[in-house]
Amino acid sequence: MRKPIIAGNWKMNKTIDQGINFVNEIKEKIAGTDVEVVICPPAIMLDHLKKATRGTNIKIGAQNMHQEEDGAFTGELSAGMLSDLKIDYAIIGHSERREYFNETDQSVNRKVAKALASGITPIMCCGETLEEREAGKTKERVKSQVLAGLEGIPAETVKTVVIAYEPIWAIGTGKTSTSEDANTVISFIRESVGALYGTTVSEAVRIQYGGSVKPANVKTLMAESDIDGALVGGASLDPENFLGLMDF
Ligand code: PGA
Repeated sequence: MRKPIIAGNWKMNKTIDQGINFVNEIKEKIAGTDVEVVICPPAIMLDHLKKATRGTNIKIGAQNMHQEEDGAFTGELSAGMLSDLKIDYAIIGHSERREYFNETDQSVNRKVAKALASGITPIMCCGETLEEREAGKTKERVKSQVLAGLEGIPAETVKTVVIAYEPIWAIGTGKTSTSEDANTVISFIRESVGALYGTTVSEAVRIQYGGSVKPANVKTLMAESDIDGALVGGASLDPENFLGLMDF
């Protein structure tokens, strides 16, 4: 059984105080949930939120990390710095990072490997643009992103990776993929992982859907056979909405 995983990606939102207040507001209310709950705040509050969530079942994730060990990379954070703070997850290759910060399948692959080697679980993102979807290239696109991102990673480790399928046209637009459609692509991703690493691995890998997920549509999405969770931007910013995402 794959444990469902709901992750909030706060992107570039909130101050440290707002982040701590958010966590204090939700922590008791989700104490008994069977869902893996992850919050990915801006880097400046990772340490604060890690401390604020001590003794709770809330996991903390970074929104990005650099692939190199250390060195002259102004503005970047290393996997070692994150593991020093006991950060549990790192979102890798979000479409905004690919689009605005020139991340490629190759840098994503190196980041995934580095995160895993540092005890951080990657949430590796993939997803097609609207043009790719309209040209019937969705499956081809996500398959190439996923396989490139996992290249060289041993099967035993691939099992632990979380994949987030986020069609770019559905992010922050209010347009969600239908749950059937999302499930079709996610099943295909699972099959592609299985073809390469075997079904024990592909049945263990958790695959989230992302793109305008909110309390109103989470139930239908989570009812699908292959959708194991959600990566949520907008609806993760408000405590009540965030709590609503666990109700499926
Ligand atoms: P959204 O963002 O929920 O606001 O569409 C999802 C994401 O970018 O991970």
